Amino acid sequence: MQTGKIGVTSENLFPIIKKFLYSDHDIFLREIVSNAVDATQKLKTLASKDEYKGDVTDLKVRVKLDKKAKTITVSDNGIGMTAEEIEKYINEIAFSGANDFLEKYKDDANAIIGHFGLGFYSSFMISKEVDIITKSYKEGSKPVKWTCQGTPEFTLDEIEKEEVGTDIVMHINEDSEEFLDENKISEILNKYCKFLPVPVVFRKQKEWKDGKEVETDKDNQINDTEPAWTKMPADLKDEDYNNFYRKLYPMADEPLFHIHLNVDYPFNLTGILYFPKIKNNFEVQKNKIQLYSNQVFVTDSVEGIVPEFLTLLHGVLDSPDIPLNVSRSYLQSDSNVKKISNHITKKVADRLSEIFKESRENFEKKWDDLKIFIEYGMLTDDKFYDRAMKFFLFKNTEGKYFTFEEYEQLIKESQTDKDKKVVHLYTTNQEEQYTFVEDARAKGYDVLILDDVLAPHLINRFEQKQTDTSFVRVDADVAENLIKKEDSEKEDLSWEEKQELSPVFQAVVPEKNDHTFIVDFKDLGENASPMVITRSEFMRRMKDMSAAQGGMNMYGDLPDSLNLVVNTAHPLVKKVIEAKDKKLSTQLEKMNADIAAQKAEAEKLEKAKEGKKEEEVPQAEKEQLESVNNELAKLEEEKRSKLADFGKKNKLAKQMVDLALLANNMLKGADLDKFVRRSVELIK
Ligand code: ADP
Repeated sequence: MQTGKIGVTSENLFPIIKKFLYSDHDIFLREIVSNAVDATQKLKTLASKDEYKGDVTDLKVRVKLDKKAKTITVSDNGIGMTAEEIEKYINEIAFSGANDFLEKYKDDANAIIGHFGLGFYSSFMISKEVDIITKSYKEGSKPVKWTCQGTPEFTLDEIEKEEVGTDIVMHINEDSEEFLDENKISEILNKYCKFLPVPVVFRKQKEWKDGKEVETDKDNQINDTEPAWTKMPADLKDEDYNNFYRKLYPMADEPLFHIHLNVDYPFNLTGILYFPKIKNNFEVQKNKIQLYSNQVFVTDSVEGIVPEFLTLLHGVLDSPDIPLNVSRSYLQSDSNVKKISNHITKKVADRLSEIFKESRENFEKKWDDLKIFIEYGMLTDDKFYDRAMKFFLFKNTEGKYFTFEEYEQLIKESQTDKDKKVVHLYTTNQEEQYTFVEDARAKGYDVLILDDVLAPHLINRFEQKQTDTSFVRVDADVAENLIKKEDSEKEDLSWEEKQELSPVFQAVVPEKNDHTFIVDFKDLGENASPMVITRSEFMRRMKDMSAAQGGMNMYGDLPDSLNLVVNTAHPLVKKVIEAKDKKLSTQLEKMNADIAAQKAEAEKLEKAKEGKKEEEVPQAEKEQLESVNNELAKLEEEKRSKLADFGKKNKLAKQMVDLALLANNMLKGADLDKFVRRSVELIK
C-alpha cells in the first residue's frame, strides 16, 4: 500500500470545497458523469484508430445508488487510469494563486470548479470519502484503488478488477443524505445529463403489471445520445424539429419556426432555436434557452450570451467555446461570446427574411404571433432593426399586411402633410375607436392597427429613425385635421362668437378632477356627429409614457386634456345656438353694449397713461382705471354665467355631449344612468 499527500499548495482545499461550493451541490453528479462519458468516448476514439483492441460496442455509464451502504457509484468502461495517471491528474492539482481566486469567486461554485479543474473534487461536497477503482486500457496496467477522506492524505492500493474502466464510489456524508434518494438522483440526471453522447443508465425500466408498477430487468437509459441539434439539418424533417421541441418543453404550444445553427469556424456553435408563440406577458417566457457544452447541460439562463430580445426564443445552444465556468460580467466582455451573440442575431434575421421571401403568405399568417418578438428586437438592437425593416409588417384595419416601404407607397399621396411628413394613422383599439377609424377611412385615409404593448415604443423609434414619417392616433383630432395639409387653419367662428358659445357648452362637460375639456368649434358638415371628443397625440403620448414609468414625471400629474369639438354645421347644434339667441339675445345685447362701453372707457384711460412714467400718472386716474377694469371683469363674468346657466339647463346640449362621451367609451356610472333617463324622457 502506498500513502501520500495530495499536491495542493493550499492546505485548505477541502474546507474550501465544502464551504464555498454549497450553493450548487447538484453539479457533483454532472462532473462525475461527464468525466465517465469523456473516458468512454476516448476509448471509442482509440478503438477507431485501432489503438485499443477490446470491445467497444456496448459502452455505458452506470449510476448506482446503494441506500444501505450510503454510496453513489458512477461506473464507466472507458479508458481508466494507471497509478501514474492518478498521481498526475488527481493528486497534483495546479493550485497557484488559489487563495486570491477563491476569495474573489467564493459565491460562484462554477467559477471555482472550472478554474481549478476541480470537476472530480466536487464529489467531496457531498462525500466523506471517495474511492476511485480503476483499470487502464493500457496493456499490462495494474488496477488500483485510490481512497481519500476529504483530507490531503490519500491511499493508493493495487486491487483486482476484471474490466477496463473506472468506478467512482462516493460515500455520502451525513449532511448530504438527501442525495440518497432515487428521485433526487433522477431529477439531477434529467437536468444535466439528458443529452450526453454516451448511454447513461440509472435504475431498471418499469412496467405496469396487474395494476402495479414493477421493475423489469432492462436498463433504464436516461439520455438521448443523439439529440436533434447534433444531426445535420438535411437529415431532419419539420416533424423531427417539433418532436424535439416537445421533448424540451412538454407543456408549450407548437413553435412557429425553428433555426438550426451549425457553425465550426471561427467558433464552434450548434443548436436549434425556436420561435415560440409569444403572449403579451412575455416576461414569463424569457430565458428558456438551454445552454450546453458538448451535450452537457450548463445553464438555462443565457443572458449575456444572447442579446436580450433573443432570450424570448426557446431551444438549445451548444458551444464548447463559451467559457462556462466564469462570472456573468466576464462573459459579457468575452470576445468569443460577442461573436457568437452577433452571429445568432444575424442568423435569426436571415431566417426570418428567408421565410418572408419564400412564403409571404405563411409569414403573414404567423405575423401576429411573431410581431412582439420582432418588435422587441427592433427596439433593443440597432442592427436587427435595420435587417428587420425588410420584413416588419404593418397590419391595417382591413387585415392587410404591408412592409414599411409598401405602406409608405400606399399612403404617400393622400397622407403627406404640409411638412412633407408621411402621416401614419393608427388605432390602438378598433372597437373603442370605431367612429374615428370610420371617419378617417371616409376621408380616404388608411388606418393601421398598432395595439400591442410595444407599439408605443416602436412608434417613437420609427419617428426617430424614419424622420419623414409621423404617427397619429385616429382620435387625436377630427378627421379633417388629422393630417394638416395647409399652414393656417380656417376658423369657422369669430372670436366674439366663440366667446358667446364656449360657456354654453363648457357648462355641460363633465367636471372631473382627472381631465379637463377645451371646447372648440368647427364646421364638420351637417352629416358628421354634432360633437366629437379628441385627445391630442402629444398629450396622450406624454400621459401614456408617464403611466408606463409609474407616473413619475410632470405629465403624470396633469389632468388628461381633451378637446370637445362642437360641429357648428350640425342642425342640432344650430338648434341650441338658436335657442340661446331666442332666450338671451335682448339681455346679451345690453350686456355686450355695457361691456363695449367699459372697454372703450378702459382704452381711453390706457391711452392717457401712454408715454408717462408710473409715478407721473395721477392717483385718481389709476384708481379709475382699476375700477373700470373691475367692472369689465364683473360684466364679463355675469355674461359668462348667464350663458352657462342657459347651457346647464339645455337638455339637448347635455345630450350631445353625453353622446360624444359615449362614442369614446367615457360615459360611465351615474352619468350613464342619467343619460339613459334623459333619453327616455326626450323620446316620450
Ligand atoms: P477535468 O475533467 O476538467 O480535466 P477533473 O478533476 O474532473 O478535471 O478530472 C481530472 C482528470 O482525471 C481528467 O482530465 C481525466 O484525465 C481523469 N479522470 C477523471 N475521471 C475519470 C474517469 N472516470 N476515467 C478516466 N479518467 C478520469
